[in-house]
Amino acid sequence: MTLSRRSLLAGAAILAASTKARAAADADVAVIGAGAAGLAAAAAIRRGGHSVVVLEARDRIGGRAYTDTGLGAGRSFDAGGQYVHWAERNPWREIARAAGVRTTDDAASPWPVLVRDGVRASEAERRQRRAGFTRVSSLLDHPAPPDRSVAQAVAGEDEAARAAAAGLTRLTLGEEPDRVSCADYDQLWSGDDIWVDGYGALVAGHYADLPVRLGTPVSAIDWRGAGVAIETPGGTLRTACAIVTVPIGVLASGALRFMPDLPAATAEAVAGLRMGAYTKIGIALDPSLFPGQDLRDAVILRSGIPGLTAYLEMQPFGKPLAVLHCGGDGARSLCEAGEAAALAAASDHLVSVFGAGIRAAVTAGRLAPWWTDPFARGSYSLARPGHLPAREALRVPVAERIFLSGEATAGGGAMTVGGATLDGERAAAEVLRRLGS
Ligand SMILES: Cc1cc2nc3c(=O)[nH]c(=O)nc-3n(C[C@H](O)[C@H](O)[C@H](O)COP(=O)(O)OP(=O)(O)OC[C@H]3O[C@@H](n4cnc5c(N)ncnc54)[C@H](O)[C@@H]3O)c2cc1C
Repeated sequence: MTLSRRSLLAGAAILAASTKARAAADADVAVIGAGAAGLAAAAAIRRGGHSVVVLEARDRIGGRAYTDTGLGAGRSFDAGGQYVHWAERNPWREIARAAGVRTTDDAASPWPVLVRDGVRASEAERRQRRAGFTRVSSLLDHPAPPDRSVAQAVAGEDEAARAAAAGLTRLTLGEEPDRVSCADYDQLWSGDDIWVDGYGALVAGHYADLPVRLGTPVSAIDWRGAGVAIETPGGTLRTACAIVTVPIGVLASGALRFMPDLPAATAEAVAGLRMGAYTKIGIALDPSLFPGQDLRDAVILRSGIPGLTAYLEMQPFGKPLAVLHCGGDGARSLCEAGEAAALAAASDHLVSVFGAGIRAAVTAGRLAPWWTDPFARGSYSLARPGHLPAREALRVPVAERIFLSGEATAGGGAMTVGGATLDGERAAAEVLRRLGS
């Protein structure tokens, strides 16, 4: 056969088509994000007999389940998820047990020590505070429609109840009470909490054998063709389906583009959610210079610091460190101010509880700035008041090939590692059905 320009072109076309076919065989499924949802989804796809590749922006897996070891040996702490919530039905309770990880049953831990200006609160003050929380909890139980914010629900209550509501939303949801939906809060599953020594490490270890491409931030997902084309710094990957597990804050930021744009109903659902700003600062303590050695696994609430609702977790699992937990706008400001400023604030907080002498015991600190982290953009999702259906709406697959998953779509398990895990498995089951397994 003589070679003509036409046969050359045809040859080039065949070559291009076969390259495409090879590219299409990269994997059946791409999972974007190697947090609990993405890892659980990838494991389920693999169990279902299909090929899967996980693309992760960071240089580690686990996402918001992350055990920070930056304070040195013996001072690790969970910068993200830490409690196995609703443990009765959470798969991580059994996984932790099987892995032999240390846990503490929250029900067995003491009622938090309340400190005001360095002085332990009287029993009367503690009782009053507890009554405030009980009152708020009952007000928020089974709210009648229409949905409203927690701030609106407690607007007619006394100062103690309103303060308790603000403490509750900031320190459990990371958000101000006027931005928390009562219906969203009410639908969360309740149950036992178990503290895990290294929840992030447990998640990463459990899924250590999955094929994850680290350091691979996905910039765009093109779903114009039959499958999806996924843009990464290393090139374009083609798969039949994508399970997208990036946090809702990342979706809302536009850092991950969709071509064409996500359908209006999906975009509206993304806009119906927002991210809270729960934040932790780990503070290494020199045990020989620390006056509160008896405070092991203790939680210290310190009232009255302007602008920052926070509590101190003292010597978790007996380790020589304190972890300052904070949430809401005060926590946002700390993340924006950066690590040095956040550590200074955390040290001030310690001083307000233990006195100036404690400063000498502080040897190092670590801020987990989830709010300013480009791959999290907040701590966990919250439905805006009136927008609870957004969580369900986000579960609707886009063109049968883009499946959104993660804690935000986990219904009653929202905001949690366990919920993200179950939701990743839910998305994988849908994908397997679509692939005909
Ligand atoms: C301070 C804090 C405390 C918490 N406490 C608890 C707790 O006690 N108990 C509990 O159960 N839960 C807790 N949570 C929540 C829990 O950590 C999360 O709900 C859960 O880990 C979310 O899992 P996920 O897979 O949905 O998302 P993620 O873990 O955020 O996973 C998403 C992944 O996507 C990656 N990614 C982002 N953008 C891109 C991109 N463009 N391309 C590729 N990859 C990308 C991210 O790096 C990340 O690894 C806490 C969270 C925080 C922040």
